Amino acid sequence: MGRKKKVVEQTVPVEPQHTQEELALMARHPGRAIQPGSLTPPPGKRSVVILCPSCGQTRQVYLADLHQVKLCPSCTVKARKEAARARRQARKETQQ
Ligand SMILES: [Zn+2]
Repeated sequence: MGRKKKVVEQTVPVEPQHTQEELALMARHPGRAIQPGSLTPPPGKRSVVILCPSCGQTRQVYLADLHQVKLCPSCTVKARKEAARARRQARKETQQ
């Protein structure tokens, strides 16, 4: 008694499906993990919710900005700082 039964899960839990439009957006913008069903319907400014590949936070992005947005705001700042530091470092090394 008290033995835990090992549950072998073979079926993937029911997940919301990406719409054709969302699939097309992901094909056009590689690296964006669009949350299934998050694309807002027309009319008006349409947006999707993407998942930050770095920390997993969600972020709402207008379609017009999707080509330049990949990370959540905090990771974008972090990535920018790191890129600047790398550039500074590279410059320092070439001067020595
Ligand atoms: Zn992030």
